[in-house]
This record gives sequence, C-alpha cells and structure tokens, in this order.
Amino acid sequence: MLQNLQAEESYWDAKHEALSRDGLEALQVDRLRETVRRARRAPFYRERLQEISLEDIRSPQDVAHLPFTTKQDLRDAYPYGFLCQPKDRFVRLHVSSGTTGQATAVFYTRKDLDTWADLMARCLYMTGARPGDTFQNLTGYGLFTGGLGFHYGAERLGMLTIPSGAGNSKRQIQLMKDFDTTVIHIIPSYALRLMDVMQELGLDPKRDLSLRIAYLGAEPYSEEVRSRVEAFYGVKVFNSYGLSEMNGPGVAFECRFQNGLHIWEDAYLVEIVDPDTLEPVPEGRLGELVLTTLTREGMPLIRYRTKDLTRILPGDCPCGRPHRRLDRIQGRSDDMFILKGVNIFPIQVEQVLMAIPEVGNNYRIVLDRQNNVDTMTVEVEVTDKIFVEDMRHLQRIRNRITKELKSELLVTPAVSLVEPHSLPKNDGKAVRLIDRRNL
Ligand SMILES: [Zn+2]
Repeated sequence: MLQNLQAEESYWDAKHEALSRDGLEALQVDRLRETVRRARRAPFYRERLQEISLEDIRSPQDVAHLPFTTKQDLRDAYPYGFLCQPKDRFVRLHVSSGTTGQATAVFYTRKDLDTWADLMARCLYMTGARPGDTFQNLTGYGLFTGGLGFHYGAERLGMLTIPSGAGNSKRQIQLMKDFDTTVIHIIPSYALRLMDVMQELGLDPKRDLSLRIAYLGAEPYSEEVRSRVEAFYGVKVFNSYGLSEMNGPGVAFECRFQNGLHIWEDAYLVEIVDPDTLEPVPEGRLGELVLTTLTREGMPLIRYRTKDLTRILPGDCPCGRPHRRLDRIQGRSDDMFILKGVNIFPIQVEQVLMAIPEVGNNYRIVLDRQNNVDTMTVEVEVTDKIFVEDMRHLQRIRNRITKELKSELLVTPAVSLVEPHSLPKNDGKAVRLIDRRNL
C-alpha cells in the first residue's frame, strides 16, 4: 500500500522533495557551511561567528555550536545589520509591524525571491493545486508577507491568479462566481466572516461556487474552525505555516495526508528547544521552534528563535517525503496570557467555542482588573437562529460554554452571549484578546 501511494505521488521539485533522508542531511551540511560562510559578511554575525570553523560542521546537529538569533537582535540591528551583500543587490524588503516594539525588516535579493516563489509553488502543488486552477488571494498585500508570498507561488505554479486582497466581501464573491475560483487563500477570521456574508446573501458555496481548496494561515486557528470552513464552503482546508523572518509563508505545509506540516528541511534547518534552558527536547516533545535558513543568500538567519511552540511528529508520512512534520503550532509564547496564575492560549477558548453549534463565527476575550482581582469575560456571538429563541435556551447555552471553558482552562470566565454580528468586525487579522488589566 505504502509503495503504491509513493508511486502515485507527484512532485513539483522531485530533486528536493523525493530525496533520501541521508541525501537530505548531506545537503543540509553543505548548505549550513555555506550559510555560515555568507553570514560572516553581515555586521551582526561578523564577530559572533568568528570562532566557528566550517570543518567542524559535519552533521546537521552541529548547528548547536552556533549562537541563537532573536527578534530583539533583529530590532537592534535594524535596518541593515543583517545584510551580507551590498545594498544594491537587494530588490525587495518587508517590514513587520511593530505592535510590540520596534519594527524589523527582511531583505530579499532577486535569487531569494525566486527561491521563495519556488518553495511556495512546491507547497501548493503538494496539496493538489494545478495549472488550470483559478486562485483568489483574499489576504492583504503590502508589507504582510502572506499576500505576495502566495501570489508569486501561485503564478509560478501556473494558476490563474486574482490578487483580490482583503475585504470588500461582495466583490470577492462576484469574482469567485465570474472566474470560477477553485483555490483560495484566506485568513481564518475572514473565512468565518465571509461565511456570515454569504449566509446573509442566501448563497450556498457548495451549490453556487466552484471552490475545492482553501489555504488558511497567518493566525492560529483550531481544528474546529477548519471543520466549519470545510463544511460550509465545500473545500479541503490546508494548514500553512511561515513567518516573515523566514521569508513569509512556505516554511511548512500540509500534504494531502494532513498529518502535520512538512517543514522544508532543504531550506530550513529545524530544532525544537526547551524555551527556558535552550537545550534540545527529545523528538515528539513540545518546545520552541528554532530555524536556520539554508538557501537565503542576502540575509541568512542562524538559529532564529521563532517563539512558536510545536513538536516534531514521529514516524514517516505515507506521501514518502523525507521532510519531517511539525505538529500544528500550539500558539506563540507571546500570545499566551496568565490569569490567576494559569497559562492560557486564546486558541484554547476558540477550540471550546467553535465545537458548540449554537455559537456563531465571532468571539472575543476581555481581561480586566476589578478590586485588584483579574477577571476574564468571553463575549460570544450566537447564531441568528438561536437569538430569537427563548431566554431559557440562551441560559442553557451560556452554562454549557462556561462549564466547558472551565474544564479546558481551569479558571472560570464570565460568559456573555451577544447578538449575531454585533462584535467588531475585521477584514484583517482578528483582535481576539483585549487586555485592560494594565491600563
Ligand atoms: Zn506527507
């Protein structure tokens, strides 16, 4: 059975997708040496890598002798401290928003953009997208790497690409109808919001549209949201992972077996470390994802601490690719909040809510402090159908949500049911957490 599956698998880049594990590791060693050699030309790494001898890099594990790089390092060296080529060799830069501090910048040479587009095309092809598909990109363009990253990958693959951008839901739907869109890229909160718009218009995507594949990424989302989106749109949803420091999307992606995300180990060297001790954790154990770029020529990054918590899934994938698989990201260590001494990820709240059918597609978490006690209120939109029903029913739903949240989070939040479509709407990334405790 396994061999049959492997024989059927077709690759965008067989040279890098279908090589043996030994072949992959040999390639990693070559590329890691080259990366260190190049990185030494960047002001940030010049002294830090001085003592490293290239001959001492004999296995991928030898990356552990190199120093870590953090987001703070990127901020401190802003804007040019990580460039290892003259400025006139670069053709693009993306700046990540400085919501929690100073901005960071990532620069691309022409070759870096080419490599990235090819990596993205590899991801999309792996999920079954083909030339002949129409791809509609419903994410923001501009400085957000998700927009242009998917755009160039889709064109490289040969899909007819519609750069529709985020928002303007009615026009999005019109474009889907007029050009028989089959593949979409959309952020999870907008996918939920667009569902509401389609329902209001009386549109059933399974009957009225041609969609078959959806890529969801850029925000954490739960399996419950995936199920909702798949059921409503009639698509197969694929999970995408990337971060702007590592180009953007295209770092890891689900194959059609959807048992974790293959991380492209010919382009990124993977480590999972304990976030406190920075020592490697055993395979299968949760830890912080640390990545080293292996193909970037203009701005290599060594042992970059992503702050994303995940694990390497043990075992081989039936698709036959030797690239190991990451578990779904558990959340950024930055997203976590602490309430009454308990660590909570917003995604835990989403998992509970989205599994309850009476819950609509929008919610938010409000943290506050009253009389020196931290409080947490979860505001939940209910579906149109429920809101007109009697108060006793609403009370039952509220009790159920409270009970299930308490069992998941180990603290008891206040739950407030609100009218459908009454919470603030967002066509960009959703703001799910309002923390008023330090105001
Ligand atoms: Zn696979």
